Amino acid sequence: MLFLYFFIFILGLCLGSFLNCFIYRLHERQTVLGRSYCPHCKHLIAWYDNIPLISFMLLKGECRHCKRQISWQYPLVELVTAVLFIVVWQKYQVNIDITNVTGYWLLVTGCSKVIRDWLFVCILIVVFIYDLRWQLILDKVTAPAIIVAFGLNLWLGMNWLNLLAAAGIGGGFFLAQYLISRGRWIGGGDIRLGVLMGLMLGWPQIFAALILAYVSGAVVGVGLLLTRKKQLSSRLPFGTFLSAATIAAMFWGEEIMSWWER
Ligand SMILES: [Zn+2]
Repeated sequence: MLFLYFFIFILGLCLGSFLNCFIYRLHERQTVLGRSYCPHCKHLIAWYDNIPLISFMLLKGECRHCKRQISWQYPLVELVTAVLFIVVWQKYQVNIDITNVTGYWLLVTGCSKVIRDWLFVCILIVVFIYDLRWQLILDKVTAPAIIVAFGLNLWLGMNWLNLLAAAGIGGGFFLAQYLISRGRWIGGGDIRLGVLMGLMLGWPQIFAALILAYVSGAVVGVGLLLTRKKQLSSRLPFGTFLSAATIAAMFWGEEIMSWWER
């Protein structure tokens, strides 16, 4: 069992490393294929300098060639992805019999919810980082994710009416604010992210995610105002709070709802 956890952790690290690369190339409008290179000196990165977490530590956070700082984003995203992969696995507690070779299909179907949640976590990490760094929620990410989330959840037996209602609540909530503020408070990207959240979570978890996002956004916003790091007029990257809240609601949505209803 320990070996399995180790394997999932390594898988998470590798996918986290891929997400870093994906986010960077999404911003630079490049294809995801091709070897990694340093964003400063454009030097190709050798495989031994591209090992998740370990290379960052061995290189002490500097590029081997130009000695400039490698962003903390890289090891952090790798580590967080790996930890969340373990949390997803823990949530479903899949019993895997590795010796049962004939049961491969069973294994795949038994893990289908795990794989869905891993995928959702990856999508949400991309939204989180991208909005944090560039204050943008890309339709290039949310639009295909909306289709994938709806299709996967239907396939896994979730009720279509529930999903559509949750999508309507998520999207409608932001659409209302968009219309009231004439697009000053939030952008169109938030509306589509709201729809995506609904299709990923369903009802009532979407409600838990919205509450969480607002509470955490308010806490951080007030904190930044008090420490004078932000002006009242400046915009918080709300997609960052929404995606973090969606991940939290995926894992603890039911607990949050029972606490809310008390
Ligand atoms: Zn460099």
